[in-house]
Amino acid sequence: MTICDREQELLAALRSGNWTPELRAHLAACESCADAAITAEFLHQAAATADPHVPPAGLVWWKAQLRARRESAQAAARPVLIAERAAAIVALLGAVGALAWLSSDSTLAALAGIVALVLLTTAAAGALLFAWSKK
Ligand SMILES: [Zn+2]
Repeated sequence: MTICDREQELLAALRSGNWTPELRAHLAACESCADAAITAEFLHQAAATADPHVPPAGLVWWKAQLRARRESAQAAARPVLIAERAAAIVALLGAVGALAWLSSDSTLAALAGIVALVLLTTAAAGALLFAWSKK
């Protein structure tokens, strides 16, 4: 489809409402102008029904700042969360080892108990370190 030479004239008539009989006859006969008129009418109606409410710039900026702060806090807390989980796993392993040590008299169990005590001490120290660093 080619663009009609009278399209700008037609769009001006749509905006102003000043139609000549000759332009109306051209609109009825020209496919390009008919499509342009339908498109212009659609855009005009869409613009009339669109919600013109835009939030104040200060509110948008404030929300963006809050979001950035929340995201950076989450990113900063991620390694701490991983360390806490690792400390919990180490503490659990230490508790299992301590149970083995307390329920048996073998040398291997005593060795496991010593390892368990080291793990428990390490996990407790790690947990305390992270708990104090959060303040
Ligand atoms: Zn035309």
